[in-house]
Amino acid sequence: MSVDLGTAQESAVRRLIARFSWPMLLLLCVMATAYGFAIEHPVVVFNLTYLTLAIVLFYLERTMPFERTWLENDGQTFANIAHTLTSKGLVQGLVTFSGVIGITAYITPMQGEGYGIWPREWPLFIQVIMTLVIAEFGLYWAHRIAHEWPVLWKFHAIHHSVTRLWIVNTGRFHFIDSVFSILLGISLPLALGAPLEAITWLSAITAYIGMLTHCNVDMRFGVLSWVFNTPGLHRWHHSKKISEGNKNYGENLVIWDQVFRTWINPDRRPPANIGIMEKMPAGFIAQLAWPFKQIRSQIKRKDNS
Ligand SMILES: [Zn+2]
Ligand SMILES: [Zn+2]
Repeated sequence: MSVDLGTAQESAVRRLIARFSWPMLLLLCVMATAYGFAIEHPVVVFNLTYLTLAIVLFYLERTMPFERTWLENDGQTFANIAHTLTSKGLVQGLVTFSGVIGITAYITPMQGEGYGIWPREWPLFIQVIMTLVIAEFGLYWAHRIAHEWPVLWKFHAIHHSVTRLWIVNTGRFHFIDSVFSILLGISLPLALGAPLEAITWLSAITAYIGMLTHCNVDMRFGVLSWVFNTPGLHRWHHSKKISEGNKNYGENLVIWDQVFRTWINPDRRPPANIGIMEKMPAGFIAQLAWPFKQIRSQIKRKDNS
C-alpha cells in the first residue's frame, strides 16, 4: 500500500487552515488594530489591515473554496463595489453632517469628561465588549426589521439578491439599508456615553467580521458559532427558504439571536443555491431605484383595490 505523502501533508495543512483561519485572522486583525491605537495611527493601520485581510481571503477563496460554484462570475462585481462605495460615502457624509450639527461632539475621547452612565474607568477591552454587545442589540433589530417589514425588505433585498457569497459582496447594501442599520446600531452606545475609542473599535471589528462572514472559504467554526456571527451561520441567512433566511440576524455576535430564538445552525450543508424570490435588475442604478419602484407599485395596487 502506498501513501501519497504530498497529498496527505497538503490535506493536513488544509484541515489546520480550515480549523484555525477564522479565529486566527480575526485575532491578528484585532492585534494589528491595537498596535494602530498604540502608535496613534488607528485609521492608517486599520486600512492596511483590512486590505491585507481581503488579499488573504481572496487567495484562500481560490485555493480552498467552501462552494466551488460560487467562484464563477455572476456579473455583479461592479454593482457590489458601487453599492459598497455609495454606502460608505453616504455614511462618511452623514458623519461630517452630524459633526456640523453637533452630534459627534457627544462622542468624546476616553480622557475626556464624557457623559451618561458609561463606566469610562473600566479597562478598555471590557468597554469594547460592552459596546459590541449593546450595539448588537440595535444591529440585530435593524436587520430583523429589514427582513420582517416588507417596505425595508425591498432595500435589504439588494444584499440578498446575490447568487454567490464571496468577500466582494460584504458591503453590497442599498445605502438606505446601511444608514438605517448604522443609526440603530450606534444610537444605544452613543446615548449611554461610550467613548470614541470604543466606537472606533466597534467599526473596525464590524468591518473585519463582515468580510470574514461573507468569505467563500472552507472553514470550521465549532463553538465559535454559538457566540460569533461566522460564515457558517451567515450562509444559512442567505438561504432562499424563509425558515432559514429569516434567522441568524447577528452582525458580529449572535447573542441576541440566542435570546430571541432566531439562531440556527443545522447539522447539514447550507444551500449553494442562494438568493431571493423576487427578480432583481442586474445594473447598479436600476438596483438603487428598484425598492422605490416596488413600493410605489405596491401603493398603486392598494389604491386600485
Ligand atoms: Zn439579511
Ligand atoms: Zn450577507
